Amino acid sequence: MAEPQDTEDVTSERLVEPGADDLERAAEAALRPRRLEEFVGQRTVREQLSLVLDAARGRGRAPDHVLLAGPPGLGKTTLAMIIAAELGASLRVTSGPAIQHAGDLAAVLSSLEEGEVLFIDEIHRLARPAEELLYVAMEDFRVDVVVGKGPGASAIPLALPPFTVVGATTRSGLLPAPLRDRFGFTGHLDFYADDELERVLVRSARLLEVELAPRAAAEIASRSRGTPRIANRLLRRVRDWAQVRGTGAADLAAARAALEVYEVDERGLDRLDRAVLRALCERFGGGPVGLSTLAVTVGEEPETVETVAEPFLVREGLMGRTPRGRVAMPAAWEHLGLQAPQAGGTLFG
Ligand code: ADP
Repeated sequence: MAEPQDTEDVTSERLVEPGADDLERAAEAALRPRRLEEFVGQRTVREQLSLVLDAARGRGRAPDHVLLAGPPGLGKTTLAMIIAAELGASLRVTSGPAIQHAGDLAAVLSSLEEGEVLFIDEIHRLARPAEELLYVAMEDFRVDVVVGKGPGASAIPLALPPFTVVGATTRSGLLPAPLRDRFGFTGHLDFYADDELERVLVRSARLLEVELAPRAAAEIASRSRGTPRIANRLLRRVRDWAQVRGTGAADLAAARAALEVYEVDERGLDRLDRAVLRALCERFGGGPVGLSTLAVTVGEEPETVETVAEPFLVREGLMGRTPRGRVAMPAAWEHLGLQAPQAGGTLFG
């Protein structure tokens, strides 16, 4: 029987020391909502999912496959776990990059039990042969097991019990249409509003037994880039500050001081965000500049810049995407305290 694969987290581990991944993951796991009703915000996705799950429960059958799309840290893994919990099903976890060969996926699929939920994180990073195997498994509940090699090889079809794939992707545009079509439902997760993040923080503070002042919650929420993962991470840093240098309570002063130590500015931009904006403005005169050049300049992978920093910077009106590359918007210059070049310097100059 194949071992369930570990999820690999590609989101950049900013604000934590390298090597602290396991601790970070354990800390996150402790704060995950377990049921749909505990899941804050994302009203549309929650309502849609709850219909899919109720209908499946009513029919006594595995629900349609579900695709969850959105930037990192918005709750895709959490929702996959909630789906399994709500169905009373067990969950198998793997990810696109963890599946090197189609055979790895065939092993996982052929060991699934009836009604199980298979979570595939970063599904857009599956290798093509694995992807093709997955189409068939999702549609016909069948895998073709190849026996032998070369011209004598033959494929033996193996029927699979009904199961549900929950795919997560930060780049739904990269999913080939045939794979996207196999999902009965796609939930698009959006950045959270500040009041929703405050609710996430209040809940997390209770679980962490931290005394969190309402104004501190508001301050942390407003600097969390619309992302619960970041809100929870900042809360833990504020708790550390309060414990070591403050009174133990996470009040407004502790929140402000800790966020300053961790270089999160008043708009919630962190070091990577500012590095990207600085590179755009100072090195490339406001752009347009290609994604990979920009990524090399800040010493990051293009995918990290594109999935982690960019969606937030674009949403904040600090960066623009044009067919010729990324450009700094007027607000970027202002935010960095720089003078935007006059006419001709940028698309917006
Ligand atoms: P993703 O898979 O999209 O990267 P996760 O599901 O791992 O994100 O969520 C990251 C962290 O944020 C987890 O600790 C989770 O508890 C918390 N979180 C995400 N969404 C919510 C939510 N809607 N309500 C409460 N906590 C949330």
